[in-house]
Amino acid sequence: MRITLSFATTADHYLDDRSSQRLMISTPEDWEDVLRLRAEYDAILIGAETLRRDNPALLLRSEELRERRRAAGLKPDLTKVVVTRSGQLSPQARFFTEGDAERYVFAPRPLPALEAAATVIVCDEPIKAACIVTELERRGVERLLVEGGAQVLRMFLDEGLADTVRWAVNPQLTLGAEQGGARFEFRPAADTECRHEVLGGMEVAWYTLHPDMSDIDLRYLSEAIDQGRRCTPCATSYCVGAVIVLPDGRTFTGHTHETLPTHHAEQEAIRKALDAGADLHGATIYSSMEPCSERKSEPESCTQLILRHGFSRVVFAAYEPLHFVCCQGARMLREAGVEVRVYPSLADEVRRTNAHVWK
Ligand SMILES: [Zn+2]
Repeated sequence: MRITLSFATTADHYLDDRSSQRLMISTPEDWEDVLRLRAEYDAILIGAETLRRDNPALLLRSEELRERRRAAGLKPDLTKVVVTRSGQLSPQARFFTEGDAERYVFAPRPLPALEAAATVIVCDEPIKAACIVTELERRGVERLLVEGGAQVLRMFLDEGLADTVRWAVNPQLTLGAEQGGARFEFRPAADTECRHEVLGGMEVAWYTLHPDMSDIDLRYLSEAIDQGRRCTPCATSYCVGAVIVLPDGRTFTGHTHETLPTHHAEQEAIRKALDAGADLHGATIYSSMEPCSERKSEPESCTQLILRHGFSRVVFAAYEPLHFVCCQGARMLREAGVEVRVYPSLADEVRRTNAHVWK
């Protein structure tokens, strides 16, 4: 999934004021640009505080943008996502009552009062962005726009799960400590790629925290899927292929049961790399399927192996279906700070290789 954080602040970095009215920080030109930006995403995420305070409907009003999304095979409105700790959200809020887009609520416990209005997804407390991202990705979200407030923005940044950041500052507007509400300042590393523009009087900065690696990823992931085709199908396991790419460019491959009937593809590739004396810290592992998080016939799961050897990136095509076990590999890897990328455009090929077990 690619994730963008988008927010506007006053010149003294406030996201809102202390009044009960919604404070408009953007100028009309900047707001138009934000609405155009929204149209490029599958889903939009806000915090419960923003929902209660601003009561936004989060619909795309422009018929032109809606038409463009329809033409691209998307729903005219974005999937709406809200994160709540308390669960205190009114099912009468416009978030729930307007539009026919999918609606998801992330909460630490079931919320029966909202079940008619949205799909409630339970994540362990404290709720982590790693859980939200993984659960949305399983449901087909590939591009997520996060619009805050402060707690939500900080959660995504602290977990390293923001790829790009759009920060618009209104240089004419200051609130001061008396009037100011939530304050938010983004402090990127000094070498972060950034471009600036002035838009209708707003100063807009775009930061790239994780460059788009999809060209390289798709090439190696296709190779991993090809490796999976070498496996002999059997009723009790998936046919998976893996490719390891070291920082120095050397590669190692593996497929399920290549040398032993209990070995997974990732294990086979890791074993070959270690036999060749490789240091796997900072390496990327490509696997046709989500690395497993539970093993009965081996002491460690592939997720544990990947973490123990210090891989920095994991790329796969298909989430494991709920067939043998409930796999939590992607979420566990993200929670440990590993960058996880999923390319569902290649998942059909993986399903074909696994027609013997895929339900
Ligand atoms: Zn495995």
